[in-house]
Amino acid sequence: MSGLPVTAIATPRRGAAGRTGLWRVERPVIDHSRCIKCLLCWLYCPEGAVVRHEDNSVEIDYDYCKGCGICANECPVRAITVVAERE
Ligand code: SF4
Ligand code: SF4
Repeated sequence: MSGLPVTAIATPRRGAAGRTGLWRVERPVIDHSRCIKCLLCWLYCPEGAVVRHEDNSVEIDYDYCKGCGICANECPVRAITVVAERE
């Protein structure tokens, strides 16, 4: 085999499918009064849709959140509730 080596280049972006369309049926809502800033939601979100601020507070980027509920399941203090999208 000759020629240059083939290199796969991945371009990181939030959410494998990009922005959420109109199909999301549920969304997570954070109760900041309960949040202990453990960052587990930020670590576990498969879409990178949990935004971490400098003070380790977190917020959901609904442009990319797919509503899977993993963040709510991982939150140790139940600070995240999954609600119907239309609520
Ligand atoms: S619901 Fe899923 S995609 Fe949305 S912020 Fe939580 S873990 Fe990420
Ligand atoms: S997992 Fe829960 S307590 Fe931890 S940062 Fe996220 S919302 Fe806050």
